[in-house]
Amino acid sequence: MKTALICGAGGFIGGHLAKRLKQEGFWVRGVDIKSHEHAETRADDFIIGDLRDPRLCRQVVDRRFDHVYQLAADMGGAGYLFTGEHDADVMHNSATINLNMLDACRKRGIPGVFYSSSACIYPAYNQENPDRPNCAESSAYPAAPDSEYGWEKLFSERLYLAYNRNYGMCNRIARYHNIFGPEGTWRGGKEKAPAAICRKVAMARSGDEIEIWGDGLQTRSFLYINECLEGTQRLARSPTCIEPINIGSEEMLSINQLVDMICDISGKHLVKRHVPGPTGVRGRNSDNRLIREKLNWAPSRPLREGLEQTYAWIEQRVGNNPVGQDSTRVHQTATG
Ligand code: NAD
Repeated sequence: MKTALICGAGGFIGGHLAKRLKQEGFWVRGVDIKSHEHAETRADDFIIGDLRDPRLCRQVVDRRFDHVYQLAADMGGAGYLFTGEHDADVMHNSATINLNMLDACRKRGIPGVFYSSSACIYPAYNQENPDRPNCAESSAYPAAPDSEYGWEKLFSERLYLAYNRNYGMCNRIARYHNIFGPEGTWRGGKEKAPAAICRKVAMARSGDEIEIWGDGLQTRSFLYINECLEGTQRLARSPTCIEPINIGSEEMLSINQLVDMICDISGKHLVKRHVPGPTGVRGRNSDNRLIREKLNWAPSRPLREGLEQTYAWIEQRVGNNPVGQDSTRVHQTATG
């Protein structure tokens, strides 16, 4: 039986990946500092522990896993990553996890690790025009990410690439662009735009106001979790693709349009109120030319389809309290 290790299995993408790997017949070990908040883990073995501790990393990599996915990170939406309040922790925690995990894998003779980087590595100067952002993989340098989260991801990308060069590893690097779906964080301050907007809409009555950080004209694209997993598996299994590669949707829209789409799904009419808040770059979209060329595949499902699933899941959680006070404002933009 093939084996897989998922670091960050108590998180959104890691939880879904565990499910998928089980469906594919893998024996799965998950590791996380916490258990999954929204679903029972499907991993055969789930270790609760802190991957900043190098001893734990050596302990969990106790065999030559066929696949290792390093998804653990100190992570959140714009309200967590773009205010500057968590910069030191984000950089320290995520870099330490990557340094420890990658070295433990090398010492155990793991041939390659899948690493989840982010669209946040792209230079701010290429994302000032909301209609024409440039997020081609080759545009990453000269580096100028707009957040410390992005700088840490870029540092760690380079770490994985250096292990490829110096230790003959075959690490794969995905640059995820705003992944969303059911069983993700939807409240508490670490949620991202699609989940935050779904929650606000689900809690509102038609005619209510909905708060949006900034003017809502920023553009983004959002990728549904199923297609993220498809891209992840294709990249993880690619024998040749060791350069960083975008995994994202090319269906770009403004945050105002995202709000309109979710309102339409809910059947409610809400009035947008734009308020000051952390907003991130003006425009961001996935560029899928390289993934098409290298993997002969790219995400293609419409955004609305994934939003319908996500809205239904969040609406169910909001449940019997459809109208209530909600202290968390809608995130005008998204990270990742
Ligand atoms: P998530 O926050 O749901 O999952 C990350 C998991 O890492 C969490 O469960 C968290 O508890 C765990 N973790 C954090 N610190 C840890 C530690 N010290 N020891 C052990 N576990 C620890 O995030 P996600 O959305 O599932 O993202 C997974 C990965 O993909 C992350 O690396 C993230 O940066 C990257 N990414 C995600 C997106 C997105 O839109 N979701 C976009 C770009 C990149």
